[in-house]
Amino acid sequence: MPTVKEFVTPLKPTWCPGCGNFGMWEALKRALSELGWEKNEFAVIWGIGCHGNGADFLDVQGMHALHGRALPPATALRLTRPDLQIIVEVGDGDSYGLGLGHFIHTARRNPRMTVITHDNQIYGLTTGQASPTTDHLMPTVSTPGGVLEQPVNPIGLAIAEDASFVARGFAGDIPHLTELYKAAFTHPGLALVDVFQPCVTWNRLDTFQWFRERVYKLEAPEWDPTDRSAAFELSMTAFREMHCSPETCRVPIGIFYRRDGVVTYEAGVPAASVPGWTRAEHPRDVSALVDRLR
Ligand code: SF4
Repeated sequence: MPTVKEFVTPLKPTWCPGCGNFGMWEALKRALSELGWEKNEFAVIWGIGCHGNGADFLDVQGMHALHGRALPPATALRLTRPDLQIIVEVGDGDSYGLGLGHFIHTARRNPRMTVITHDNQIYGLTTGQASPTTDHLMPTVSTPGGVLEQPVNPIGLAIAEDASFVARGFAGDIPHLTELYKAAFTHPGLALVDVFQPCVTWNRLDTFQWFRERVYKLEAPEWDPTDRSAAFELSMTAFREMHCSPETCRVPIGIFYRRDGVVTYEAGVPAASVPGWTRAEHPRDVSALVDRLR
């Protein structure tokens, strides 16, 4: 069972010092290690964005997909490798912009996988353009007069599409995020964990300090994550107004909604019950090729 250190590659992370990606990377390594998953028991698919560079820093099997297109190959993997746990790492611009259609349709299909969104509310990799979750009226390099659109509400969208596990984390609270990841990874259906991941270089409004002054945890007995209507209503509360004070603007993190026992997409595909390669008429041993490419 790999330790946290054994999930690290020799490559040094290229994220800006202080980036929220570091906290998410740490929580991911801790969750994988604490669950005791061997490296051949799961795969990680990355989208495109600063977060996607994590593909170079995490020593696991997986792939780096196209922008906005991480969910289709992840779904294909779900249907061909029932023996694997699947984790998808995407960004807000990646998954809620170009990939929004895939996000909605994956939510309503409920395949067994976890989707982690690095939600920094900006396009960080491409130097600070407005993303689908950028605050209303926030000035960015692509919207110097402020963003005119209201931000996409990922939690509300996922609950509306009946995703069976919907949670929000904060990159500045690694122990809490680690527990959220572990709950999501062991959920028997689609799990979304949208994580506020401050971009310290391009987003000067949604900072670690801004979130630290406002986040609070959804916990039993005060919060019942099986109440879908309450979860949807909570997702609609104002939490992205740039000028609201910590007293008037509180940001819930934790499991908004979960429903166990929902039939998965793959349950309706009988062929998906055994690994695809076992159905090949002439299985090939490609281990020598893989070794050569290492
Ligand atoms: Fe992180 Fe922003 Fe730097 Fe990208 S640009 S590595 S999101 S701080």
